[in-house]
Amino acid sequence: MCREGLVPEPVEKAAAAETAAGNPVDAALLAERVARGSVVVPANRHHVSLRPRAVGEGCSIKVNVNIGVSRDAKDYCLEEEKASLAVELGAHALMDLSCHGKTADFRRDLVAESPLMLGSVPLYDVPGLTGKPLMDLTGDDFFTAVEAHARDGIDFLTIHAGLTLKTADRLRKNPRLTRIVSRGGSMLFAWMDHTGLENPYYAQFDRLLEICREHEVTLSLGDGCRPGCLADATDPCQVEELITLGELTLAARKAGVQVMIEGPGHMAMNEIEANVLLEKRLCHGAPFYVLGPLVTDLAPGYDHITAAIGGAVAGRAGADFLCYVTPAEHLRLPDLQDVRDGIIASKIAAHAADISRGLPGARIRDDRMARARADIDWAGMFRESLDPVKAAAFRAGSAPGEADTCTMCGELCAVRTMKKVLT
Ligand code: SF4
Repeated sequence: MCREGLVPEPVEKAAAAETAAGNPVDAALLAERVARGSVVVPANRHHVSLRPRAVGEGCSIKVNVNIGVSRDAKDYCLEEEKASLAVELGAHALMDLSCHGKTADFRRDLVAESPLMLGSVPLYDVPGLTGKPLMDLTGDDFFTAVEAHARDGIDFLTIHAGLTLKTADRLRKNPRLTRIVSRGGSMLFAWMDHTGLENPYYAQFDRLLEICREHEVTLSLGDGCRPGCLADATDPCQVEELITLGELTLAARKAGVQVMIEGPGHMAMNEIEANVLLEKRLCHGAPFYVLGPLVTDLAPGYDHITAAIGGAVAGRAGADFLCYVTPAEHLRLPDLQDVRDGIIASKIAAHAADISRGLPGARIRDDRMARARADIDWAGMFRESLDPVKAAAFRAGSAPGEADTCTMCGELCAVRTMKKVLT
């Protein structure tokens, strides 16, 4: 519809949401950007509870939260609590990465209840859905889960279509320290290695596009070769895959399917800007969705911080969508506190980048916070905090002798002194 100069309802709603968040965007202009491919508004026609959001050029940076059960951690209620927490803390998207058990029931419940954009990686669901081990899958089997997830109402699907036999060959010729760390990428590499066949998502890309078009699903082209350590960043495999993703982007646009591109991964800070530039150049301005990047390999237990640093740098350079990373990354499935910490860390990164990009309303809340601080208005400070619960708990946990100070400087409170002198 956008290509015909019309403004579809999800685009209209996404423009209104962007404007309400302090970044005024005209719906017609947003539709024009969607038609050009520099913005996506993931909105599956079956996801009726969705509050659509725009990702890309001129939009505030969005934050995704991963949830989902695995064989070793299958507490569906806990995953639902994480989904609710994501809404409460103002995340914009949820990816269901479930790979075991009643994945269809869980997915359908999410679609029925969640207002957030929903993403998934259908490949994780293929062995469970077909009842076959990975190596016994046929090319057709890879599409069963794509169809199921699209039909169930998932708004954006991660598909690792760019990891081809050629990329696999490139990887063998250019050994890496951490080989492949993408779950989907490793599955496809192992299957191609075993069968000698081309990646079915690449070989039958038109079939994929047909499914996406039918259900109005956005493609999130996955980076199966995303670097898993600083040493592997921006290497030939990663760049080779990105070139293919750029070619597939054009094919998808021609078929009327919205596309965004997934990115690193682990990467030193000085390489991030160049990677954003490369993605925008090679993938024709498609929105960039980054996992981190994690700017050092040394901080298991603190990777929400390494990712937030990378996310802020990437956002400043033009990345559009941040996938949260929790302190549990590399270690275990996150618990609720990990999810809270991961969301807040990503929101800080996104907000900091939005301010630096000069988005019109991005700093309004910071200025309100500054006024509350100057006025020693504790309620106002908590209200403006990204995590009011934590801010209030910290204050309550260390009572000052005088209410208009805190226990940091006590009677020497600089803010109070200057309020008295200059008010
Ligand atoms: S006591 Fe010190 S840290 Fe606390 S509000 Fe006053 S100036 Fe800030």
